[in-house]
Amino acid sequence: MYILSLDQGTTSSRAILFDKQGEIVGIEQKEFSQIYPQSAWVEHDPEEIWHSQAAVATQVLINAGLNSKDVAAIGITNQRETTIVWNKKTGKPVYNAIVWQDRRTSAFCDSLKVEYNDFIREKTGLIIDAYFSATKIKWILENVENAQEQADNGELAFGTVDTWLVWKLTGGKVHATDVSNASRTMLFNINTLEWDKELLQLFKIPENMLPEVKSSSEIFGYTDTSIFTIPLVISGIAGDQQASLFGQMCVEEGMLKNTYGTGCFMMLNIGKKPVLSKNNLLTTIAWKIGNETNYALEGSVFIGGAVIQWLRDGLHIVSSAKESEQMALQVTDNGGVYFVPALTGLGAPYWDQYARGAILGITRATTSAHITRAALEAIAFQSNEVLRSMLFDASLSVTELRVDGGATANDFLMQFQADLLNFPVVRPKILETTALGAAYFAGLAVGFWKNMEEIKNQWITDKTFFPLIDNDLRMKYLTHWNKAVKRALDWEEH
Ligand code: ADP
Repeated sequence: MYILSLDQGTTSSRAILFDKQGEIVGIEQKEFSQIYPQSAWVEHDPEEIWHSQAAVATQVLINAGLNSKDVAAIGITNQRETTIVWNKKTGKPVYNAIVWQDRRTSAFCDSLKVEYNDFIREKTGLIIDAYFSATKIKWILENVENAQEQADNGELAFGTVDTWLVWKLTGGKVHATDVSNASRTMLFNINTLEWDKELLQLFKIPENMLPEVKSSSEIFGYTDTSIFTIPLVISGIAGDQQASLFGQMCVEEGMLKNTYGTGCFMMLNIGKKPVLSKNNLLTTIAWKIGNETNYALEGSVFIGGAVIQWLRDGLHIVSSAKESEQMALQVTDNGGVYFVPALTGLGAPYWDQYARGAILGITRATTSAHITRAALEAIAFQSNEVLRSMLFDASLSVTELRVDGGATANDFLMQFQADLLNFPVVRPKILETTALGAAYFAGLAVGFWKNMEEIKNQWITDKTFFPLIDNDLRMKYLTHWNKAVKRALDWEEH
């Protein structure tokens, strides 16, 4: 028997089959369209999301020579915050999915900040921002003809992408989400674990639109037989970063992971109480299993692996992301070059949208290898800063950083990260931690895996990077980095 994990991401839908040992036995992926109706607007077609997800789910079984009766359970993990509103009777979306990246409600968010910043933060753990679902729902209700009226009459349903997939998979029988996805809507009270009536009022969203909120590991429903030949149980759901934290088995307080993709996403398990950040990091629900809710602090780096894409596509000094490693190793150090990749502003702990990219310390001896090395080092410098902010907020002691994502293939980057942090960086064998986390939630709920001990043993190290530099050199790097960041801040006119 196997667990079928549905990993519904921002650019593609994937389906991955895991066996009892937590090993991958099949993987299928399908991209879908990105829709940009205006600058800073990003949409997806909900039907296309569904069709691409259903297609890979059936195809992965066929390719592995398996069929529906070989599937013990389905787990779902998804791009978070993306908002879909549909008609409960017809099942038809009233508007495209508004994607998490979409900025159309920024001005409205800014107008809320003065009065409601602390109010919303204390309830939801979030900073008021257009990312989260609340203002996207409000936009749909205000801008789609008759939508507010239909919503007030109880005719519309809202869901994040997990909820939409469950609705479609169950043939419209189940309207539900899990706590981790609910905690990204800016409507969910992370203290009481309920939709917050005051927030619903503030955003004029009727409660009957909202899905039932369940834990991350329990039975949500059964698939309709038009999709799989027999009804399959859906028993695990979590947002992508939370699923990855679980897939990395960061299940104890003080355990932490960083995903190195286009951006970097760091999450620290802070245990059973929601600690609010003093550095504008997000507090979020990691998961709920049984009656236990686990919280996490989250921080992100906007430009992570993307800086390497820029070296490739903008500067043409590397021909592939992979080549950046050889290039960086052509020189013995960064030659005094520091690269602040504030290409779209800087996030935690600076939060300066007017910062812009800067390459400093250039001399006549500087080569493209130094610049490449400085770009890779910048990914580590930024991640180090997010981590320091987290530890300041949570005052936990941390012993290692677990890593995943495309750029972790770069051993130079991983080593430099360990050097800066001054504790080990650990790369596991299975890097598909997001899909694996969703599979674990699903498998635990149906007894496919008996308990946490069984799955904890499946997490295996590929390579550990131990810090190798002394404190003086570390301080020298950090001092120069800080100096470089100062020059990049507040650059753009405003
Ligand atoms: P995402 O899920 O955000 O699309 P991935 O996890 O697939 O990201 O990682 C892709 C990112 O990682 C790209 O930005 C790419 O530049 C970077 N990347 C991939 N391989 C390497 C490498 N060997 N060294 C440095 N960066 C890399």
